[in-house]
Amino acid sequence: MIDYHMHTPLCHHAEGAPAEYLAAARQKGLLEIGFSDHYPLGLLGISPPNKVSMDPEELPGYIDEIRALGAGEKEIKVKLGVEVDYIPGKEKETARLLEGAPFDFVIGSVHLIDDWDFTHPRHARRYETADLAQIYRRYFELIWQACTSGLFDFIGHIDVIKKFGHRLSHKEMEPYWEKTARLLKEKGLCYELNTSGKDVPAGEFYPARRLMELCFEQGVPVTLGSDAHGPKQVGRYFDEALALLREIGYRELAVFSGRKRSFISLDEGGGG
Ligand code: ZN
Ligand code: FE
Ligand code: FE
Ligand code: ZN
Repeated sequence: MIDYHMHTPLCHHAEGAPAEYLAAARQKGLLEIGFSDHYPLGLLGISPPNKVSMDPEELPGYIDEIRALGAGEKEIKVKLGVEVDYIPGKEKETARLLEGAPFDFVIGSVHLIDDWDFTHPRHARRYETADLAQIYRRYFELIWQACTSGLFDFIGHIDVIKKFGHRLSHKEMEPYWEKTARLLKEKGLCYELNTSGKDVPAGEFYPARRLMELCFEQGVPVTLGSDAHGPKQVGRYFDEALALLREIGYRELAVFSGRKRSFISLDEGGGG
């Protein structure tokens, strides 16, 4: 198994040294891991109310540390990635920053609707007073723009807008799932099964099973990540994730090197 979504303390809301994440991955019998800490928002000219990404001057040290960790590891492949916020209007800057950067993969995530950090527990109250249908519309518009931007290798936690348990009905969601799956397919993109949703009020993986089924039907590849913000979270709920992937029909997971995609069989490396 692989874990392609792991953070480091540089983002200020994760704990544990990268070497401890690697040790946890070894214990879980993982074959390959990818670090994907939060890319400096400061480089995109964004300063959110809470510090949720590394500082610009920390980026070179992050790159060096993950590379050194990988170079010193014989059994587990260690990939260098980043989780980059999709910021509308900043596509050119983002492209320029990522061009020639040494990453194996770039996750594109939406954590901000305008200046609302809607994944942050401190700002979750806003769900209770806002129009939920409108919030979902705005969120998915951003996801669709992220898909068409061509900036990313895969989209992170694609329905994280449900994080705090505020949901639309299945019927209301259907057009969102259909358009999202279609765009992923059209743009040759991949998405992740992100298991972290189990540990928040949403209580289930990202994305919803329905989207995964539509993606599978259309041949959209999937990768797998725990979104670990601490070593203990590496590979969380992977047995369940593996079973779900198999049930839906997936037989392989996408992996990345130098931003080129290849595949690893779900059977490789046994359980999680
Ligand atoms: Zn984070
Ligand atoms: Fe994220
Ligand atoms: Fe993350
Ligand atoms: Zn994330």
